[in-house]
Amino acid sequence: METLWSDFLNSEWHDWRGNGRSEDRLEKPAWQERFLSDWHLVASVPMPAEEASAMRHFRERLHLLAVRLADGDGMEDGDWQLLNEHLALDVVNRRLIGEPGAVRLVYVPVMEDWRHVRAEIAVSFGQTLLEGEKARIRVCDNPDCRWIFYDDTRNRTKKYCDEKMCGNLMKVRRFRARKKAGEEQGEES
Ligand SMILES: [Zn+2]
Repeated sequence: METLWSDFLNSEWHDWRGNGRSEDRLEKPAWQERFLSDWHLVASVPMPAEEASAMRHFRERLHLLAVRLADGDGMEDGDWQLLNEHLALDVVNRRLIGEPGAVRLVYVPVMEDWRHVRAEIAVSFGQTLLEGEKARIRVCDNPDCRWIFYDDTRNRTKKYCDEKMCGNLMKVRRFRARKKAGEEQGEES
């Protein structure tokens, strides 16, 4: 399942086919447009340089946290602080919308910019901790891929970001390794 926070973390892309290629998509205007539009957020494109540096810094820290949680570690004081620091970037107004009987309370950002985007990413990660289960945070088992995702399968057994791509690739690698080991054993005897 794609979440705002995992989409953000995966902007640092590694080629899952294992050719060593990687790409930082965060600073690509096309990625920024797609990201903002998918998550109904508004900010200036291209991202200003100082914002890009703050976004990269946040991504690096949140990535370390996600990997630690995926390894089974718990949240520490500094982790809550990281999320709270980013929540504090945002100022929101509350507004009542609708008619009696069908009233909604909505939070309207005072400023729509990359700071607000960072706060929304922190909210999204917080929601995974609040409503979801941190044990479902996963890193793709293909060491070349390292895609971060939220495992929403019923039996929580999703090991790869994509069974058809990383799943099959790893199956082929295991098959080749077994075959090679078998051949070497054959040579020895
Ligand atoms: Zn993968």
